[in-house]
Amino acid sequence: MKPPPFRYSAPTSVAEALELLVTDVDADARVLAGGQSLVPLMNFRLAQPSHLVDLRRVEELARIRTEDGMLVIGAMVRMTDAEHSPEVAVAAPLLAEALGQVAHPPIRNSGTVGGSIAHADPAAELPAVALALDAELVVTGADGTRTVAAGDFFHGPFTTAVAPGEILTEVRLPHRGGGHAFVEFARTHGSFALVGAAAVIELDGDTVARASIALSGVAPTPVRAAAAEEVLTGSTPDAATIRAAAEAGAAALSPTGDVQASPETRVDIARSYLRRGIELALSRAQDRR
Ligand SMILES: Cc1cc2nc3c(=O)[nH]c(=O)nc-3n(C[C@H](O)[C@H](O)[C@H](O)COP(=O)(O)OP(=O)(O)OC[C@H]3O[C@@H](n4cnc5c(N)ncnc54)[C@H](O)[C@@H]3O)c2cc1C
Repeated sequence: MKPPPFRYSAPTSVAEALELLVTDVDADARVLAGGQSLVPLMNFRLAQPSHLVDLRRVEELARIRTEDGMLVIGAMVRMTDAEHSPEVAVAAPLLAEALGQVAHPPIRNSGTVGGSIAHADPAAELPAVALALDAELVVTGADGTRTVAAGDFFHGPFTTAVAPGEILTEVRLPHRGGGHAFVEFARTHGSFALVGAAAVIELDGDTVARASIALSGVAPTPVRAAAAEEVLTGSTPDAATIRAAAEAGAAALSPTGDVQASPETRVDIARSYLRRGIELALSRAQDRR
């Protein structure tokens, strides 16, 4: 299939891109990032934007920097570049680990960090990472810039706080210590996971000072496993505590079924991958003490 005709623009600045988007906002003008989700949707005519505003020449959106103790990743940073970035490895190893599990390298060579988060596929890895890390998502429009907490950003499947005429410009990640883990169950290597778990555990001596855990694939948006976090926080975790945390996290879920898995199967996988994620994050946190 080929997409229906559309207008194409390739601005070189955010200001120019916003001007183009606002002019055509009523005619479904859309941002084009890596094109790895949008172009297939257009080819199947599931998306029919009248105007594609290609951000690939906007250099200001393709940088990684550290600012005020936050790792700041421009929305157009390609997944491959973030995956292999020394700054990301130090400040957000959870993101690097999750990136290695997104699709295959050719997809990650084009796909962008911001594109994945803005696309908000409930099965995607990066929205769950953003939620687990309490990311701040910077959204820019004609009226200026606002910062949206990851917890308020994802509104539903493929729906976010980014309004028509706006651009997700930056992903800001607070530095987190402790141990991390991104684990997922996918039927075949590189395909979308049925369930993913992102975990960060910080220890104070042997006690869990802070646990941040998010799941993908179990709800219309990524969700925090708050019940699991609660069981872990303040505990000196042993195998029974970890099992109880995974059980509590899974018990709070009510996913819908689809051709890939029944609701019960998704909950079972979530329980298992919560346990694996917590175990791995905890063992890394213990190694770092
Ligand atoms: C075979 C295949 C397998 C895949 N497997 C996985 C997988 O396992 N896990 C996974 O997470 N993804 C997977 N993907 C999707 C891939 O990761 C996409 O790259 C990603 O979801 C979208 O990023 P993109 O930069 O390509 O965005 P695009 O496809 O260009 O855009 C996606 C959507 O987001 C909007 N958008 C993009 N950037 C911005 C922005 N800065 N501001 C506002 N709106 C924006 C676009 O308008 C569009 O609606 C797969 C894709 C393919 C083709």
